[in-house]
Amino acid sequence: MNSRNKIDYVEVTETKSVAIDKKCAKCRKSICCNSINQKIPAPKSIYDFDHLLWQVSHENINIFKDADGWFLHVHSACAHLGNGGVCGIYERRPMVCRDYNNDYCEFDESIEEAAEHFFSTYEQLEKYCRKRFKKWDKRFKKAGYA
Ligand code: SF4
Ligand code: SF4
Repeated sequence: MNSRNKIDYVEVTETKSVAIDKKCAKCRKSICCNSINQKIPAPKSIYDFDHLLWQVSHENINIFKDADGWFLHVHSACAHLGNGGVCGIYERRPMVCRDYNNDYCEFDESIEEAAEHFFSTYEQLEKYCRKRFKKWDKRFKKAGYA
């Protein structure tokens, strides 16, 4: 779930679920309920990027930059996501879900396609860092590591 967006596509009553948004009804994967985008401080130094290398090395973690800044993208389905994209706690869903707007969402364009930079592996980010920092490979020595 991206804090910049809003989800308001199903209305759950005690007896039924009703798709109220045509676009979301077409979106079989409920993409927005299957990940978290957490904004992070813009990395600047070699050490900031070295830290991101550790994070992107973990399963289901990506890092991207778009017009709004840098984000950790965590692929993880919400525990309340039910069959057919129904929210199991619709009446009690958090504010970030209530604020979600599907005007322009991942159904239109994936984060990977829309982002200026998108890194899903250590190797991808390392390649970027090597280009960005001339002294990238000397960082351990400079910091006093063997
Ligand atoms: S990704 Fe977009 S279209 Fe799909 S369920 Fe979420 S808001 Fe609706
Ligand atoms: S609480 Fe409901 S609307 Fe929010 S991410 Fe989970 S399933 Fe989606």
